[in-house]
Amino acid sequence: MEAIYDLVVVGGGPAGLTSAIYTSRSNLSVLVIEKPNIGSIHMAHQIDNYPGFPEGITGKNLQKQMKNQAKRFGTEFLDATFLGVDIYDSPKIVKTDKINVKAKSIIIATGWAKNGEEKLKGEAEFLGKGVSYCATCDGAFTRNKTVSLFGQGEEIAEEALFLTKYSEKIYIFVTGEKLNCNENILKTLENDDKVEIIFNSKIVELKGKDVLETAEVEIDGEKQEFSVQYAFLYLGTKNSTELLGEFATLDEDGLIVTDDAMKTNFEGIYAAGDVVSKKARQVTTAVSDGTLAGMEVIKYLLTKQ
Ligand SMILES: Cc1cc2nc3c(=O)[nH]c(=O)nc-3n(C[C@H](O)[C@H](O)[C@H](O)COP(=O)(O)OP(=O)(O)OC[C@H]3O[C@@H](n4cnc5c(N)ncnc54)[C@H](O)[C@@H]3O)c2cc1C
Repeated sequence: MEAIYDLVVVGGGPAGLTSAIYTSRSNLSVLVIEKPNIGSIHMAHQIDNYPGFPEGITGKNLQKQMKNQAKRFGTEFLDATFLGVDIYDSPKIVKTDKINVKAKSIIIATGWAKNGEEKLKGEAEFLGKGVSYCATCDGAFTRNKTVSLFGQGEEIAEEALFLTKYSEKIYIFVTGEKLNCNENILKTLENDDKVEIIFNSKIVELKGKDVLETAEVEIDGEKQEFSVQYAFLYLGTKNSTELLGEFATLDEDGLIVTDDAMKTNFEGIYAAGDVVSKKARQVTTAVSDGTLAGMEVIKYLLTKQ
């Protein structure tokens, strides 16, 4: 049976890992989703002001130790890029570029690093004019149109399946040698004449005049142009506001507004660390937020069941 985690933590920095330590130690099933090799802790080469390390410690080493501590209590880890949350499902669905994960509660701890600062060529220009991040939201506009999807994993496969109800022609440009998703969905897509799955693809540029008209794609190293009216992107290129604003109230800097127990305005969703709208962004404050969020989740799940 598909796992439903008590808690999914998005972000494996000090905030997320502290939440994971508290909650997995309380016997909750916990998954930490982490995009490898990014995050402030990864970049902090020497931390001299985190208590307990009189000689200082590198950020990477501190993160590794926190991770081992979380693993000791049973926390699981998934290397993946976070793509969003489906809050209207129960349990909630956390979407990544690899798999979608079911969660009774969620802590967002993605740090201050701006997601999607580097957009694809043409992405920002045609956002809302053919470029979209959500087929479930915009699929109905694609009736009788040629559409494209870019990415990898369960999310893109499910979104493509949804589009088969509307679109005339569907290109799925996969960023690898195979599409890693549910076998039944894959078979349905493969057997649908209007669906074409193209592997080893990398988007080069989205082009058009007033609206999207073509997508230039590099396939096995060779550039080709496809005439498309829609491009649905599942590549982690949403900026913080696009990514987090779907399920949390943000301040003017795109940071999540929480109450003093780290709750967002959505039930069961919490935020911790540098991603939160607050005054100080340090390891100590991230750890403090992670503690509060973890304790709130424990209380939430105990009182909910
Ligand atoms: C160069 C530098 C030096 C610093 N020096 C110090 C210091 O000396 N002392 C101090 O206290 N603080 C220091 N800081 C600040 C400190 O590192 C941060 O305050 C702290 O790491 C915040 O922890 P966090 O868990 O909130 O976020 P982060 O450490 O930023 O971790 C964020 C996590 O989220 C994950 N993530 C982000 N986006 C996604 C996504 N889309 N999908 C999946 N995962 C995602 C990342 O992989 C990462 O694991 C420094 C920061 C920098 C950049």
